[in-house]
Amino acid sequence: MEPPHADTRMGQNRNHRDALKMTRCNSCCGWLLVLWCALFASWAAAAPAPAADTFPALTLSKDSSGRIELGTRMGVLIDNSNTLTLEQVLRADLPWNTINRKSPNFGFTQDAYWFRFQINNVTDRNLSRLIELPIPFLDDVRLYHIVDGLILDSYSLGDELPFVQRAVRHRNFIMPVTLAPGSNLLYLRLASAGTVEAPLRIWDPVKFHAASNDENLLQGGAIGIMVIMIVYNLFIFFSTRDINYIYYIGFVASYMMFHLSLSGYAFAYLWPYSVRWNSIAISTFIAFTALFTGLFANHFLKLRQFSKPAFFTVRAMVIFCAILLPLTFMLPYSTTIRIGAAIVVPIAVTVLILGYWRWWRGAVFARFYCLAWTATLFGVGILSISKQGWIPLNIWTENASQIGIVLQVVLLSFTLADRINNDRSLRLNAQAVALAHERKARASQQALIEATESSNRELEQRVQLRTADLNATLEQLKEANDHLQLLSTTDGLTKISNRAYFDKAVSTELRRAARQQSPMTIILFDIDHFKAINDTYGHLAGDACLRGLANLLRPRIHRAGDIFARYGGEEFVLAIGGFDLSGSIALAQEFRAAIEAMQIDFDGAAIRFTASFGVVCAIPNPSLRSQDFLASADKALYQAKHDGRNCVRVAALQKTVL
Ligand code: GH3
Ligand code: MG
Ligand code: MG
Repeated sequence: MEPPHADTRMGQNRNHRDALKMTRCNSCCGWLLVLWCALFASWAAAAPAPAADTFPALTLSKDSSGRIELGTRMGVLIDNSNTLTLEQVLRADLPWNTINRKSPNFGFTQDAYWFRFQINNVTDRNLSRLIELPIPFLDDVRLYHIVDGLILDSYSLGDELPFVQRAVRHRNFIMPVTLAPGSNLLYLRLASAGTVEAPLRIWDPVKFHAASNDENLLQGGAIGIMVIMIVYNLFIFFSTRDINYIYYIGFVASYMMFHLSLSGYAFAYLWPYSVRWNSIAISTFIAFTALFTGLFANHFLKLRQFSKPAFFTVRAMVIFCAILLPLTFMLPYSTTIRIGAAIVVPIAVTVLILGYWRWWRGAVFARFYCLAWTATLFGVGILSISKQGWIPLNIWTENASQIGIVLQVVLLSFTLADRINNDRSLRLNAQAVALAHERKARASQQALIEATESSNRELEQRVQLRTADLNATLEQLKEANDHLQLLSTTDGLTKISNRAYFDKAVSTELRRAARQQSPMTIILFDIDHFKAINDTYGHLAGDACLRGLANLLRPRIHRAGDIFARYGGEEFVLAIGGFDLSGSIALAQEFRAAIEAMQIDFDGAAIRFTASFGVVCAIPNPSLRSQDFLASADKALYQAKHDGRNCVRVAALQKTVL
């Protein structure tokens, strides 16, 4: 059977065959599910059933459902050589297989896949239907609608054609067909070197648009929440300057762009002409998402302080993603998407495990973080299970991963707020403790100051007391010294100077007189026959006579520098300056006369006595010592005694100039 009509766009995509593409499991799956699909592709792949030349036809009536899944109604032909034409495929002797799954998934493959199905329009008029292939990024999609051996409709689609060329401007591949009454044969060819999945469905156009609107609303809501979270957290970042917010915003924005790229919305609305960029965007945004996931986990969970191995593991992953980022623009998409897929799973698992570990080890702030990641995995899990047919596919289960991601985004935002609260309360507590410590320290300091002041005052008082004591003692000591001094220089009986004082003082006076070249007079006198007085009146009477003589002469010798002393026994000495020899003799005569005239009344007796005087007068010079003066005076005194006593004699001093 030779098809009379060939679509001009056919074969356009063959040139791009080497650009391997990973097909999407489901346009609304979460990014983790992409990886799950990649990992479990072989497990989940629909094992073709044994050959069947006939396959059940889909009967379409007025009452047929608005959406019909074609999965199990299709036959599949695997074109290993990737060269079969429609003409060859239409031959009856090829090994067609049946499919036992609604959503057949053939995993990563370089084969081309042919699907065929028959629709029997049992009505009597044409029926307009839409065939939807909800895998927006298949490389090469071709559909042939054949009725009675003629191609009525054919489509050649694929993500390597600009979006604007699509017959129906929809993020998924939508192919309108007009089903003629009777048998309609449809052949679909898919080629994508990545995973090939064919969850083909046929729609009543009205139902399709309603469902599409619902889907858009749901997706718009999810994107809206993410945008709000980005803006909201950006504002928080501006006020807190906490870098965690940037990582969080980076994560949400990257994931959002990844999701928009994956689901075809980005190609439809953001870059409908940019085929090249569209072909690498998923890889780039996976790398971005993984990068920010690692950065956020490392920083938010404070892994550096918590565990060095954990920190460096995540950092290594982050560095890997940072290197992968520019490579997504340079290396083929098929390479970078596989690398990205390979790194995302370990990162997701690692950051989740680390979150729980951190929480288990007491970091309360990690609780919402764990909840956030768990919600995503839970959503992906539900979708995965529902894809296996274990739970029914409906709008909730199909969008479970999307709901999980939105929950994650919201919960992670809570996580940040929770940690800020946590940090703030810790900070407030620390501040309160610090304040209490400071108060305590101030009180202690105050007490110390008071104690110091009090002890200083006490010390000062003591010092004052001690000083007063010391001063009193010093005063007493001075008095005692003065007294001692007096005692040592005074004659105890007569209270005039003693001989020791005279000897010392006369030398000073002689030096002074020598300096001034003024004469110095020494008068030495001795009571006459004193022994007889003692003998006659008693020793006490003798003492009284000695005191009487001292008291008689003391008032007459009052000039500064005059020295009057008891020289020993009843012998007295006088040293005076300023008199020449005659003046000195006159003074001695005056004293002698006064003594002679004096009467001592003692114990009823009137005692009278005389004294003999030896006088020497000279201007001293350094060669004359006091002994020379005294010796001369003594000599004169001896002369006076010898001359009959009660007289004054003068002795000359050799070397003396008068
Ligand atoms: P002359 O005229 O030659 O000086 O004869 P004199 O008796 O005064 O001299 P003498 O040297 O023989 O005697 C001195 C006496 O003076 C002897 C001694 O007992 C007495 N005498 C010395 N010191 C004291 C004293 O402090 N008190 C009394 N009462 N007598 C004293
Ligand atoms: Mg005598
Ligand atoms: Mg004598």
